[in-house]
Amino acid sequence: MALEGPAERRDEGQQGGMANGNGVAPPPSRMAGRPLGAAAYSDRRLRLNPNTEHKPQDYTDVRGEYAPAVYSALERHLPPSLLEADRDVKLHFMRDILARYWPHGERNKVHRHKEYRQKIVHLYKPLHQELYSMHPSAFFLPTFLEAVRTNTEESIASIMTEPIAGVFSFAMLQPNFCDMLLEEVENFEKWVHAMKFKIMRPNTMNKYGAVLDDFGLEAMLNQFMEEFIAPISKVFYPEVGGGTLDSHHAFVVEYGKDRDVELGFHVDDSEVTLNVCLGKQFSGGELYFRGIRCENHVNSETQHEEMYDYSHVPGRAVLHRGRHRHGARPTSSGLRMNLLLWCRSSVFREMKKYQMGFSSWCGECQREKRERQIQCVKATKLVNYSLEHSYAVHLAANILLLASNTFLLYF
Ligand SMILES: [Zn+2]
Repeated sequence: MALEGPAERRDEGQQGGMANGNGVAPPPSRMAGRPLGAAAYSDRRLRLNPNTEHKPQDYTDVRGEYAPAVYSALERHLPPSLLEADRDVKLHFMRDILARYWPHGERNKVHRHKEYRQKIVHLYKPLHQELYSMHPSAFFLPTFLEAVRTNTEESIASIMTEPIAGVFSFAMLQPNFCDMLLEEVENFEKWVHAMKFKIMRPNTMNKYGAVLDDFGLEAMLNQFMEEFIAPISKVFYPEVGGGTLDSHHAFVVEYGKDRDVELGFHVDDSEVTLNVCLGKQFSGGELYFRGIRCENHVNSETQHEEMYDYSHVPGRAVLHRGRHRHGARPTSSGLRMNLLLWCRSSVFREMKKYQMGFSSWCGECQREKRERQIQCVKATKLVNYSLEHSYAVHLAANILLLASNTFLLYF
């Protein structure tokens, strides 16, 4: 699965230090300079289930590679003995864990990428400045805005259709916002072409399109995720980190003549993916879904009831788990452009390592579980049958014995 590259690389980095999948002890060289008391906790494990009653401390003043929300979310998973420790102790404990999750090589890559972005932002002149900060009523349709602002399960469900389990579709963006974003992307591409600037494409599978975060839209899109996607994913995808989204990758893809034609079957490097059609005129390009799968089952067969094809409508969004296998059929005519927002949760990715074997959200894990239950019921029936059978034989023998005794009495 080509799109999973970055996630797989991060996983490789983790395994050395996390050999048994649950230890979090840092190597001795990292112990220097730690606050008093931290070493005493170094062999403790995170808890798989968060302590929902615990109120995490405030980390908003903490600067570094991770957003303060990551520490607040992770704090609920700390071993009970650490929950009431000093904030510094907890912070070091969590940083140790996160440092393994994000090894040195990866950090260098991120640093280079930051420089690349700074260079673009410094030189590129935006066409629609109003896109670069959040203006909810100009961006979103009133129905969508009201549902999210009411922020109840009912209000959110009221604007959604769920054509197949786990895929939600809803009218989301103002036509004018879609047009402006398309024009901005086109303007950026023209600039790239004129400057002969070598840009990074959205992922390994798309040769066309642009990463929106790279030319200044990152802050707006982060707010987009936090305020308008997280409330929905918290309701529909809590088991894959929908409630703890803390980073994103946002890009526009382009399909049609002289662009990408189709997109092969794959999963996304995201916990939750938002896919919104921005326009323009096109035919074809349906999005096909083929069941949700964990890493162990990513290539397993599709069940008939997991097949679903979605036809894009400009302004309308599709929301699904990143692990929901999908692809895009060829766009047969015209030009189709879609906004993609891959939403990620570092807490979910960390906690996933503690999970062994079974993923409640994986269609194949569920199927295997059902199969085991059926086998188990069958085996129980068989045992019951043989017990009943032996009971009947036993009864018959007793009757015969009684009859023979009676017989004996007679004669
Ligand atoms: Zn599975």
